[in-house]
Amino acid sequence: MLIFKTINETREFLCSQKGKSLGFVPTMGALHQGHLDLVRKARQENELVAVSIFVNPIQFNNPEDLEKYPRMPELDANMLRSVGCDVLFMPDVSEMYPQPESTVYDFGPIEKVMEGAARPGHFNGVGIVVRKLFEIIEPQKAYFGEKDFQQLAVIRELVRKLSLSVQIVGCATVREPDGLAMSSRNMRLTDNERAVAPKIYQALQTYARHKETLTPSSMKNSIVKELHNEPLFRIDYIEIADDTYLQPVSRWADASGALVFAAVFLGNVRLIDNVRIF
Ligand code: AMP
Repeated sequence: MLIFKTINETREFLCSQKGKSLGFVPTMGALHQGHLDLVRKARQENELVAVSIFVNPIQFNNPEDLEKYPRMPELDANMLRSVGCDVLFMPDVSEMYPQPESTVYDFGPIEKVMEGAARPGHFNGVGIVVRKLFEIIEPQKAYFGEKDFQQLAVIRELVRKLSLSVQIVGCATVREPDGLAMSSRNMRLTDNERAVAPKIYQALQTYARHKETLTPSSMKNSIVKELHNEPLFRIDYIEIADDTYLQPVSRWADASGALVFAAVFLGNVRLIDNVRIF
């Protein structure tokens, strides 16, 4: 596996490989099996696989979250070697942002709800970095996790809006054996918090099965009530939204597909998850 820190070296190498199909997995590092699943999928579908590790400061609206974001580049590189990654791009902040960024994207209604509403500027920062990475790597396919379902929708919108030629591939959420969605932030949980964290998925999964007997609002209320039973949880939001524009669903018949989304604080760690209802 080749490791590059600069855009020029990365471009030069990838240019020398022109003609090979290239799959790309953007990440912020502190890798786990969820990330590796995306890399494995990219490995199966492409001749060349590139991964980026970049903790993108402009997508963090909470300075403490950025500062505490886990960084473990050597371990990450070893994991990526083990799944057959060819190129690891690990730029510094000054390499990605030689000047302050002023681009403002309008992703429409998708960015006005849930993560977009709770984290102002977050998706704009994601859009800027992903577009830059696409321009540097020029992949045919890029792989994103459904764990961040709204982000996946925003990236699809970015690609559509800018007529980018990359194909976006969504990949199912990888979970711990107890159901907790794998996340780099999980390692910041205390033992007590880690022990109760799977209750988020359990609650979503339990009620998501009851579409026939619950209205969207009663499903949401049941989940909120269930999560309130756990004193370590502080709910940021529970939403039931459609699978395309992520808008709230008030009647099942109004949507062709819907998911339940959760953002929950445990201490100062904020976890998100989602489960498809139909
Ligand atoms: P991150 O490093 O958190 O920015 O994530 C990089 C990519 O990995 C994103 O496309 C995430 O959606 C994806 N990802 C993170 N956690 C998981 C998971 N548990 N299962 C599947 N994909 C994931």
